[in-house]
Amino acid sequence: MADKKVDYIIVGQGLAGSCLALQLSFREKRVLVIDQHNSNSASRVAAGLFNPITGRQMGKTWLADELFPYLDNFYLRAQSLLNQPFYFPMPLYRPFISVEEQNEWMGRSAEPNYSVYLRKLETNPVYEQFVKNEFGGLLLNRCGYVNTNNFLNSVRNFIHEKFYFLEEGFSEDELLIGSDGVQYKNFTASKIIFCTGEQIRLSKYFSWLPVKPLKGETLTISPHIKPDIILNRGVYIVPDIWKVGATYNKLDQSAGITDGGHRELTEKLNELASFQYSISAQDWGFRPTTPDRRPIIGPHPEYEQLVIFNGLGTKGVSLAPYFSDVLVNWMENGALIDQSVSLNRYKSLYSKSA
Ligand SMILES: Cc1cc2nc3c(=O)[nH]c(=O)nc-3n(C[C@H](O)[C@H](O)[C@H](O)COP(=O)(O)OP(=O)(O)OC[C@H]3O[C@@H](n4cnc5c(N)ncnc54)[C@H](O)[C@@H]3O)c2cc1C
Repeated sequence: MADKKVDYIIVGQGLAGSCLALQLSFREKRVLVIDQHNSNSASRVAAGLFNPITGRQMGKTWLADELFPYLDNFYLRAQSLLNQPFYFPMPLYRPFISVEEQNEWMGRSAEPNYSVYLRKLETNPVYEQFVKNEFGGLLLNRCGYVNTNNFLNSVRNFIHEKFYFLEEGFSEDELLIGSDGVQYKNFTASKIIFCTGEQIRLSKYFSWLPVKPLKGETLTISPHIKPDIILNRGVYIVPDIWKVGATYNKLDQSAGITDGGHRELTEKLNELASFQYSISAQDWGFRPTTPDRRPIIGPHPEYEQLVIFNGLGTKGVSLAPYFSDVLVNWMENGALIDQSVSLNRYKSLYSKSA
C-alpha cells in the first residue's frame, strides 16, 4: 500500500543527487532518496577540485562567470545547514612550462575576462619547497576543493533525519508510472529523478542516451610538508586530503586500479612536486561523460514523470550546484531548460532506437 507521499524521489546520492536533495530542501519539498553505497562511485573517489581556468590551453571553463559565484554561495549555505566542514576555497598555483607561456600570460592577465580569476603572476620561482617552477606561474582565484566524502556523508545524515532514505539498489521493475506521478514501493511522488551517474547505462528508460564512462584513477600520498595551495600541472595535488589525480582513460572499461595509472600519475607528480612523498592509496572510478561535455537535464521523451540529471563529466563539483537549481526551477516553476543542457538535444536518438 502506498501510504507515504513525497514531492520527489531521487535515485542516486552522488554529487548530482546530493545537490538536488539540498535544493529541494531549501524549497521545503519532501523527498525520498534511494542510493546503494558504492565506494568507487565518481563522487566518492573525486578529489573535489574546482578551478575556473583549465585544460592544456588554460582557458576559462564553460559558464565560469555563472558557475563559480553560484557554487561558492551554495556550498557555504550547505555547510552552515549541515554544520559540517567540507568546502575549502583556496588558491591554485600552476607553474609555467616555458618563457613563451609566461609571456603569453603577461598579456592575457590584463584582459578583464581573466583578471577576476588571477591572483598573481609570478615570473620567478616561488614555493620551491613544494613545486618545481623554473619559469614562475599563475596563482588563481576562485579555486578550491570540496571534501566529497564529508559532503556526501553529511547530506546522507541530513536526508535520514529530515526526509526518507532507502539504502538499497533501486529496481525499475518496481516502479509504477501513473498519469500524474509515480509509485515506488509504498511511496508516491510527482516525479522521479535519475541521478545514477554512469550506471544510467543500465536503465531501461535512459540507456539510449550517450552517457559514456570515462575511467579515472587517483593516488593518495603522505607528504611531509603542507602547502595551503592546490598545485596543478599535468596532475593536481590537493592538500589536506592529499589526493593526486587524475587519469583519463576512455578505452579501459574494467573495474579496478592499474599499473599504467600508477605509472602515469607518479611520473607527472615527479615533474610537479619538489617534496618527498610516499603513496598510501590508489583509487578508481568512472565519470559520467557526454559527447558535447555538457550535462543532460530534463524529462524522458515519453514519460514526463521520469527525469534525468546526469552528464556531470569531469566537473561535478562546479556543475551540480548550478544545474540542480536549473532542474528544480523547471520542475517547480516550469522555467525553460537551456537547449545546451536539455535532454531534448538527444531526443532524435530515442526515436531511432524506439
Ligand atoms: C578519479 C576521478 C576524479 C575526479 N575528480 C574530480 C574533481 O576533482 N572535481 C570535479 O568537479 N569532478 C571530479 N570528478 C568527476 C565527478 O566525480 C563527477 O562529475 C561526479 O561525481 C558525478 O556525480 P553523479 O552524482 O552524477 O554520479 P556518481 O558519483 O556516480 O553517483 C551516482 C550514485 O548513484 C548510485 N546508484 C547508481 N545506480 C543505482 C541504483 N540502481 N540504485 C541505487 N543507487 C544507484 C551510485 O551508487 C552512486 O552513489 C572525478 C571523477 C573521477 C572518477
